[in-house]
Amino acid sequence: MIQLELRGVSKSYLRGRVPALRKVDLALPRGKFLAVLGPSGCGKSTLLRLVAGLEEPDRGEIFIAGRRVDGVPPARRNVAMVFQNYALYPHFTVYQNIALGLKLRGFPRQEIDRRVREVARLLGLEDLLERYPRELSGGQQQRTALARALVREPEVFLLDEPLSNLDAQIREETRSELKRLFRRLEATVLYVTHDQIEALTMADLVAVMESGEIRQLGPPEEVYHRP
Ligand code: ADP
Ligand code: ADP
Repeated sequence: MIQLELRGVSKSYLRGRVPALRKVDLALPRGKFLAVLGPSGCGKSTLLRLVAGLEEPDRGEIFIAGRRVDGVPPARRNVAMVFQNYALYPHFTVYQNIALGLKLRGFPRQEIDRRVREVARLLGLEDLLERYPRELSGGQQQRTALARALVREPEVFLLDEPLSNLDAQIREETRSELKRLFRRLEATVLYVTHDQIEALTMADLVAVMESGEIRQLGPPEEVYHRP
């Protein structure tokens, strides 16, 4: 089953003067982890932002789980996005940061509490729930940002260079943790990176973008063996 589909999606900025995506087609099956690679400015973030609903396409259609979502507000698309600078709320505890999205959506307290604890256990945050972001390491902050996305149980995860602010060792640890976690959840993931090792080690599929187009798409071993 195709979980995320783009058909002929184009997007430009500044009234057409800056083309960012050119007629992009993509079909990502449910449970697959797609790494999106390519040089700065090739349109990776735009692709994510369109799926998230933070931008609307000029042309084309976007489907999530078979439902057309272009034009649907971000909060009603059932996607969760994790950014590079994960922007936790400094005056909220880890618990409150994780719970906030559900609270704003009006989930009952017991359900919020159950989900927060489950996700915290999954990510090894259960002893840190009372802490504030400034009392966490970079890796712990990133796991909190991830927990905030996971707790919503979205249909598609969008990650925009989520590890690039971490130092090398933590990045490596978090990379393998994330890979295991998403595999266990059978999550559908769109993962933007410019790190080829990340793409190679984490992804089921790799898309290589250039100038607003997907130039190659396939399993990592295939994409990397082409000239
Ligand atoms: P990437 O994530 O691969 O670096 P982006 O999607 O951020 O690429 O950008 C694609 C193109 O669109 C680039 O030329 C970039 O400068 C331009 N762009 C992105 N966002 C905006 C914006 N808000 N206003 C104008 N141009 C933008
Ligand atoms: P409010 O300030 O409106 O009470 P909070 O976000 O502080 O909202 O808390 C929402 C609910 O979650 C409350 O029932 C609170 O007791 C509970 N809660 C907050 N932090 C924790 C925590 N670390 N462990 C267990 N429950 C918590």
